[in-house]
Amino acid sequence: MGIYEELGIRPVINANATLTRLGGSRLAPGVAEAMAEAGQSFVDLRALQRAVGAEIARLTHNEACYVSSGAAAGLTLVTAACIAGTDPERRERLPFTADLKNEVIIHSHTRVQYDFGVRMAGVRLVEIGSPAGTSTNELIAAITPRTAAMFFFPRGQEERGELPLEAAVEICHARGIPVIVDAAAQLPPKSNLWSFTQRGADAVIFSGGKGLRGPQPTGLILGKRELIEAITHHGPPNPFIGRGMKVGKEELCGILAAVRWYLDHDETQDAAFYELAVAEVVRAFEAHPAVSARRIWPCEAGQPIPRTELLLDEARLGRTRDEVLTALRNGEPSVEVGEGLGATLWINPQTLEPQELPLLLERLEQELQVLSHK
Ligand SMILES: *Cc1c(COP(=O)(O)O)cnc(C)c1O
Repeated sequence: MGIYEELGIRPVINANATLTRLGGSRLAPGVAEAMAEAGQSFVDLRALQRAVGAEIARLTHNEACYVSSGAAAGLTLVTAACIAGTDPERRERLPFTADLKNEVIIHSHTRVQYDFGVRMAGVRLVEIGSPAGTSTNELIAAITPRTAAMFFFPRGQEERGELPLEAAVEICHARGIPVIVDAAAQLPPKSNLWSFTQRGADAVIFSGGKGLRGPQPTGLILGKRELIEAITHHGPPNPFIGRGMKVGKEELCGILAAVRWYLDHDETQDAAFYELAVAEVVRAFEAHPAVSARRIWPCEAGQPIPRTELLLDEARLGRTRDEVLTALRNGEPSVEVGEGLGATLWINPQTLEPQELPLLLERLEQELQVLSHK
C-alpha cells in the first residue's frame, strides 16, 4: 500500500500550477537522496547555511544567497533586514517598529496576497500607482525618511505602464533605499536567477518548491552580500523573528541538489513537452459542440510556458464551469485544472508528467461531455 493510500489520501493529477495547497511540485531527481543523506549526521547548522548559500550564489552568479523556509518567509526576513540591519537591539524589538524605518513601497498593479509576509515584519505598506502602472513621480513622492524598502512583484514580462526595474532602482538607490523583487514563481527561465539582481535589485526571492522542484519548505534569497548577512542575523536558528521559519539540514542539502539539477537540466526538452501537451488538449476539443480550446501564453506568473484555455458554453454543456471543476476534482483520478476568467478552464502542462497526459485527456473528455438529459 502506498504512503498516501494508507492515509486515505488520493494523489491528484495537477494541471493547474505549482500550488502549495496541492504540494507545490515534484522533487527533482537527486533531491530526496541528498535529504536522506543529510539527515544521518549532526552538523553546525549555521556553517551549513553559509556553505550552501555560498555554493548557490556561485551557481546563480550572485554575490550571496540565504535559504529561507519558502518565498513567503523570505519576504519577512528580507524586510526585517531592511528595517533593523544587524543591530541587536532593533532585531529583538521586531515586529514593533515605532521610530524605525517602517514603510515599504509597493506598486498597486502588482499587489499579491503574499505581501502579508512583508507586513509581518512590522511595516506599513505604502501603495503607489494604479492598475495601469506607476510613474516615476509617484515613486519619488512616496519616499519618506521612514522608507525601509521598495518591493516589486513582477508578473513576468514587464507590462505596459510599468515602471522599469532599472528606473525604480536608480531612484531608490540615489536615496539609499533597497529594491527587493519577489519572483517566487518566475522559473523558468533559468536566467531569472541572475537577471533581476544584474538589473540592480538588491535581492530577489524564489520559491524552492515551485519551478526549482526542491523541498517545499525552502526558498532562495539571492543578492547583495551585506543584505544577506543581515538576513542571517534575523533567521533561524537565532531566536528572533525568523525562529519559526526554520530550515533544516535536510532542506538545505535538498535545495542545493535541486538548484544543481535545475541549472543542468534541458529547458528545451521541457518546452517541447509543454507544446505537445497543449496541442493534444486543443486537438481533443477541436470538433466539440460546447467547448472551444486554444493555446494561450504566457503562464500564470508570466513564465514562458504555454497553456490551453477551454471556453465552455455552459448552457449547451448543461454544466457550469464550477460544476466541471468540482467534478474533475471529485472523480477518479482527481484532476485539478486552473480556474480561468469567466467560463474558462486553464490547463497547465508545467506540473504534468508525460504519462499523465492520456489520463488527463480522458478525464477532461468525460467531464466535458454534453449532458443531453439536462
Ligand atoms: C508562491 C509565491 C509566494 C510564496 O512562496 P512559498 O515558497 O510558497 O512561501 C510568494 N510570492 C509569490 C509572488 C508567489 O507566487
